Amino acid sequence: MKILSVNAGSSSLKFQMYEMPEEKVLISGVFERIGLDNSLYTIKINGEKIKKEANLSNHKDAVRILIEELLNNKVIKSLDEIKGVGHRVVHGGDRYAKSTIIDEDVIKTIDELSSLAPLHNPANLMGILAFKEEVPDATSVAVFDTAFHQTMPKESYLYAVPYEWFTKYGVRRYGFHGISHDYLTQTLKNVLKNDKPNLITCHLGNGGSITAVKEGLCFDTSLGFSPNAGLVMGTRCGDIDSAIIPYIMNKTDKSLEDVMNDLSKKSGYLGISGISSDSRDIEDGIKNNNERCILAQNLFVRRAIEYIAKYYVELGHVDAICFAGGIGENSISTREEILDGLKCLGIKVDEKANDVRGEFTLITKKDSSVPCYVIPTDEEVMIARDTYHFIEG
Ligand code: AMP
Repeated sequence: MKILSVNAGSSSLKFQMYEMPEEKVLISGVFERIGLDNSLYTIKINGEKIKKEANLSNHKDAVRILIEELLNNKVIKSLDEIKGVGHRVVHGGDRYAKSTIIDEDVIKTIDELSSLAPLHNPANLMGILAFKEEVPDATSVAVFDTAFHQTMPKESYLYAVPYEWFTKYGVRRYGFHGISHDYLTQTLKNVLKNDKPNLITCHLGNGGSITAVKEGLCFDTSLGFSPNAGLVMGTRCGDIDSAIIPYIMNKTDKSLEDVMNDLSKKSGYLGISGISSDSRDIEDGIKNNNERCILAQNLFVRRAIEYIAKYYVELGHVDAICFAGGIGENSISTREEILDGLKCLGIKVDEKANDVRGEFTLITKKDSSVPCYVIPTDEEVMIARDTYHFIEG
């Protein structure tokens, strides 16, 4: 059965088509600069990467071209072979603890939830509506980035603010990267042969989050009401004292919007190093003894250690820790520094095993108190799996 896994942004649309249940990728690609000048798309098929220019005035144009490419490349013979389209939706609020088939009510709810995710949900909806129109017979499924975190207890998700902020306005921790944390949890359940493991899953990319999983379910997570909480990230500050915001507004005459922009686009690795948001550039800077790069890395590592240590205590017992995301999968030194900082818990990194990028690997010694793994995450396949399950029942 052929299933499309889709991630629509405001000016982009990423896709991957799977043969299910084999989980074989038939074709993948990305449409970029939708609605802008010089729009283009890239497709990957049979190990070949093809880049083309195209006039993409909206998401529907992208979907139409995608269908043409599927037909021309003989991935499908006719449209009715596409049985399902799974969409990544960033915010499901507290309405969706699981993926759901998209009907008119779901579309309305995703739209209503746009006030919680103004940059993401409207873009996700554009993708959903374009596919609904161009591939009307396919089952359309929403897979939410917040859903995995809906099992958190109140003590994990409430902020100590006036209670009506929560009851009236939905102010609470939602958490994000849930599709990735779910994938990591499912993978570790299989690896450990344990259906109810206690885990700490670290998704460290340009955006980052760490999740505590208790008996197989999310118990706590570092991203919060917004995707700018918790860890130090590429350009986001993570946890800060809220009083900094009015203070900087007063000192600089910056608007609230400007300060919020600084906190999400000019902070993190970029803010501290003054050089780059990319961990590879930070690593290069450290090699050249750049003090600000050293400081940026130390802050990044220390914050990650703080969260892992906190979750270790909250969980009481941890069956495994894993690293995923661009940094988690590829930055050998970052993993080593984080695990070194946890050695008082009996965690012992195996330097040789840790010398790995992007491959499933056990990176701790046999006598480590907790086994730690590198796991390449795969959000696309999670979306395809959920979509397939709705169709197959
Ligand atoms: P993501 O958001 O998951 O795509 O991750 C992006 C981050 O992964 C960036 O900070 C990259 O610098 C980092 N990254 C990707 N490849 C490597 C690598 N080989 N070594 C260190 N960091 C990497």
